[in-house]
Amino acid sequence: MKRHVLILGAGFAGLELATRLSETVPDAVRVTLLDRNDSFYFGYSKLEVMLGRESADAVKMPYRDIAKDGVEFRQERVVGIDPVTRRVATDAGVHDADFLVVAMGADYDMAATPGFEAGGHEYYTLAGAERLRDALADFQGGRVLVSVLGAPFKCPPAPFEGSFLLHEHFTRQGIRDDVQMATTFPMQRPVPVTGEVSQMFREGLAARGVEELPQELVTSIDPAARVAQLKSGKTMPYDLFVGIPVHRAPDPLAASGLAVDGWVPVDQTNLRTRFPNVYAIGDVNSGPRTVPKAGIFAESAALVVADDIAAEISGGEAPAPYEGWGICYAEFGHGLVSKVEVNFLGGPSPVAARNEPSLAYAAEKAEFGASRRARWFGR
Ligand SMILES: Cc1cc2nc3c(=O)[nH]c(=O)nc-3n(C[C@H](O)[C@H](O)[C@H](O)COP(=O)(O)OP(=O)(O)OC[C@H]3O[C@@H](n4cnc5c(N)ncnc54)[C@H](O)[C@@H]3O)c2cc1C
Repeated sequence: MKRHVLILGAGFAGLELATRLSETVPDAVRVTLLDRNDSFYFGYSKLEVMLGRESADAVKMPYRDIAKDGVEFRQERVVGIDPVTRRVATDAGVHDADFLVVAMGADYDMAATPGFEAGGHEYYTLAGAERLRDALADFQGGRVLVSVLGAPFKCPPAPFEGSFLLHEHFTRQGIRDDVQMATTFPMQRPVPVTGEVSQMFREGLAARGVEELPQELVTSIDPAARVAQLKSGKTMPYDLFVGIPVHRAPDPLAASGLAVDGWVPVDQTNLRTRFPNVYAIGDVNSGPRTVPKAGIFAESAALVVADDIAAEISGGEAPAPYEGWGICYAEFGHGLVSKVEVNFLGGPSPVAARNEPSLAYAAEKAEFGASRRARWFGR
């Protein structure tokens, strides 16, 4: 009899896991893939929407296009999880699983930064990117502050990509000389995987005249006075505030007992939680060592879990340990994209190669997106 694999969340992790299982063990498993939304879109597509280069509808990939052997997609919202019995309650019913994989990503806590919802902007949601696009259309100049409001957050380069692309936007609008740009973040340096990689982003900020304020955390903003309050006691005036919101695990995870200190802890070699046959992959998990929240690491985790489930069913050999390996492409504006190839867990400390922004890497990034779209959605 086929074993039932229930995947909660159809993002980078869930989509790759369903695809891999369908390819490798279609006779041994039936897969149910659940998501509260009707479509998927890449995180980086939000930057395109922010700049008005793509519409929100154009970047969406509808889940109804998924056609894979043994995979059923259902649009349902998960409301409760019992990791002991592997029983999941949704807004449409109850599902029982032989293998349960939590791939629900990270949600945002907009209210964690007082004033932010009322007076700030963000491009971490599609709706936020649309609102920022409209605000940029009206913006004639002034002080722009891009602030990381908490860690961990998705995609370590994304806050800096935002600054680079806003610089490009203001330049194209012919108002760059009338805009003062600054960025605050709680880390010691941008994209801190290695000093070399970090330096590439620091040079990018400096070359574009974006003031860098490391180890500074905005704790609230006053939209009426247009002033940001920093943890250090400083204040910073702004005319346009763009925040990277505080992240948190989706609602049902804390109540289910799966999340501990905010995220779902796993054995990083095989992504298993402490509950038998329950895994957590992608942005939702945490481990003793840091692996950033990014699609590429969610995807590579999914491959290990697919093979681990297959080995568990067949009694075969367990897959090689998860290495937190991946390639991150980062936008520097004006069509230039850098490439950082990184391995977080394969050795005693992370290894990353810096590759300068180029048009060739922009083409690679486009191919990266197109290949996932074709693999997961068949078009
Ligand atoms: C601006 C920006 C740029 C980025 N650029 C890159 C990049 O260039 N490269 C890269 O690798 N990563 C990038 N990322 C990060 C990337 O988008 C995420 O890290 C990645 O999507 C994580 O994959 P995941 O499967 O863990 O979670 P997600 O892709 O977020 O998927 C989780 C899914 O779970 C669903 N879900 C959550 N709660 C429930 C519930 N209660 N019931 C049902 N379904 C639920 C959600 O709807 C969602 O579809 C970027 C992110 C942003 C915001």
